[in-house]
Amino acid sequence: MSRKKLIFITSLGIIVLLGLSLGIILRRCKFLKSTQIIMGTNVEISIYPPDEEALKAAFNEIKKIDNLMSIYKNDSEVSSLNRQGEMKVSPETLEVIKRALEFSRITGGAFDISCKPLIDLWKKARKEGKVPSKEEINKTLSLVGYEKIILEGNLVSFKERGMEIDLGGIAKGYAVDKAIEVLKKKGIKRALINAGGDLYALGEPPEGKKWSIGIQHPRNQNELFSVIKLRDKGVATSGDYRRYYTIEGKRYSHIINPKTGETVQDVPMSVTIVAADATTADALATGIFVLGATKGIELINTLPGVEGMVISEGMEVKVSRGWGQFQN
Ligand code: AMP
Ligand code: MG
Repeated sequence: MSRKKLIFITSLGIIVLLGLSLGIILRRCKFLKSTQIIMGTNVEISIYPPDEEALKAAFNEIKKIDNLMSIYKNDSEVSSLNRQGEMKVSPETLEVIKRALEFSRITGGAFDISCKPLIDLWKKARKEGKVPSKEEINKTLSLVGYEKIILEGNLVSFKERGMEIDLGGIAKGYAVDKAIEVLKKKGIKRALINAGGDLYALGEPPEGKKWSIGIQHPRNQNELFSVIKLRDKGVATSGDYRRYYTIEGKRYSHIINPKTGETVQDVPMSVTIVAADATTADALATGIFVLGATKGIELINTLPGVEGMVISEGMEVKVSRGWGQFQN
């Protein structure tokens, strides 16, 4: 080969290599990322290709769901339904209630959106610094039970006067799924939406083929307990470390056992669920928190497309049969 040809081929090779590296760098940089506080939590959205309009539409969708379903907003649809005991609701609220009822059946009533009166009872207890009496709990339990939520078309009603619902264990996951739908419609192929630990990972991340999702250590706030790798999946974690309170020196969880009316105590410390969508992951993480490690993992093993990890007191870890696929 002539010297000129060799120099030409070498230069071409270098240019191609430079081009490839530049391509990789650009690919890494082009994710557009933004955070807003919605639903009382940090909602972080990263998308590719970068598209300000799509990003804004995704945030707006999450705000829309919050405005419909928040129990902290007096003018939300769910707050109106709770006041009236009967109401025609939007397709979104209806869908979440329907899915919630499905998860109540799957978890044998461990997940139950009708537990709001109990949540309020425990909120009052927290304010007064005194645990509710057995009598108060039993009286409130008569207002709880997902079977007493009635759906006729888009009309939602409650069998008992005084019943109320709280979508706090499922709405964040649903909002993430709806925002992902919006992004997909706008042509976004790769994204991560994380609403305070309820998330969906779409397509490929900036680097590599799968997103690395850190699972927080349930006792050391700044430490990751584990990192899982996945794509096109919803992930949610319910942890006793996230929101808890103390009454008369004892620690109480923000999650209620709808059967006993007590808050879930001591076990587990954290439940992480991976599922096909974030709604499923969110609801099951809350439900399995109530069921505990053994029953919880048994249940997950019967559900196709659902995997989970439960960390109990003493850092005892139980995982479902297919969990290993996320650890490579
Ligand atoms: P998460 O953080 O997703 O586990 O949801 C916890 C929230 O769900 C609580 O703050 C309540 O609003 C609600 N919640 C509490 N206990 C239950 C339960 N057993 N079933 C359904 N939702 C619940
Ligand atoms: Mg949940």
